[in-house]
Amino acid sequence: MARVPHPRGDGGEDAEDDVFDPEQLPEDQMAGLAQSGVGMLRPQRFDEYIGQRDLVEKFRVFIEAAKQRNEALDHVLLHGPPGLGKTTMAQVVANEMGVPFQITSGPAVEHKGHLIGLLTGLKERSVLFIDEVHRLSPTVEEFLYSAMEDGEIDMPLGEGTSAQTVRFQIVPFTLIGATTRTGLLSAPLRDRFHIVESLSLYEDEDLATIVENAAVRLGLPCTGPGALEIGRRSRGTPRWAIRLVRRVRDFAQVEGLDRIEPEAAGRFLVKLGVDEEGLTSLDRDLLTAIYEHFAGGPVGVDALAASVGIPRDTIEDVHEPFLLRRGFILRTSRGRVATERAARHLGRPTSDVES
Ligand code: ADP
Repeated sequence: MARVPHPRGDGGEDAEDDVFDPEQLPEDQMAGLAQSGVGMLRPQRFDEYIGQRDLVEKFRVFIEAAKQRNEALDHVLLHGPPGLGKTTMAQVVANEMGVPFQITSGPAVEHKGHLIGLLTGLKERSVLFIDEVHRLSPTVEEFLYSAMEDGEIDMPLGEGTSAQTVRFQIVPFTLIGATTRTGLLSAPLRDRFHIVESLSLYEDEDLATIVENAAVRLGLPCTGPGALEIGRRSRGTPRWAIRLVRRVRDFAQVEGLDRIEPEAAGRFLVKLGVDEEGLTSLDRDLLTAIYEHFAGGPVGVDALAASVGIPRDTIEDVHEPFLLRRGFILRTSRGRVATERAARHLGRPTSDVES
């Protein structure tokens, strides 16, 4: 697998202690994609890819059809919160297609020359994965259009403003772009992806399976109930689940445990700042701010971001999906509203909030 620099994320890294920043997990970044460490936890084939069953089913068909036609798979846009398995899915797609996988990210492709290098270096039907594809610069993005649509690029001949260009045919390839929200993409780029799919937060049972597998590979097994305890407190996110199981393992190891039971898992998670519902201190800060500064809401995301000092994107991409899914907040046309469930969880009066 080829690899190019991948600065991940521009916001949120400093928002909380990095132990719980799902956008900043050094051991699981590009180095982790190699066949070592957490890279070993990354599924390689659909059979190992837990959850997202409908999506997997669809991709199996798309891939089979493309292989029958001896064609590259159509360009794919994957969207969903960070840590849900977009990169993993892209790599599995390449493996299932039996083609090389090349990975980069929007901010890493700094200029047209860089993109030309990537595109002309591709083998036939390769998958080129661009994480944070919404962060490509406008000139690079425009340059990509003809590559995606016609399989051609305009190669500059010579330097300066008078430089000529020549149309150059590139090999058929599949671009897989990942983004947290499709709304972040320009319409012309979005339109050039023919397969657009979203990844949703995982069910607790699927996360429990991911935890169980990870724990075995990390050398300290979890019992089924122990894995479920960690899984259900993992904010619907595999990356989070894997991160938690690694830290829980540390505690378990130091206590001399030979496996992780639910009671111990729960105790360690509390020490790690993850409460009974899987909320971290930042989630709780957000909910508390809605009550204390905005009387329970509705509040606009910008005002909320300013009041808690968390970047708007981090609130929208990382915190909200989980808080919405678990019914701690509602999104209304007038803004975010904390629910009765949130009030109860924080031990606040429930009289003046939406139920
Ligand atoms: P994203 O690209 O959406 O930010 P990644 O693909 O990097 O997420 O996944 C984050 C971590 O979660 C990786 O360590 C990966 O191995 C694990 N993971 C993601 N999806 C799954 C899955 N469906 N089954 C098992 N592990 C997964």
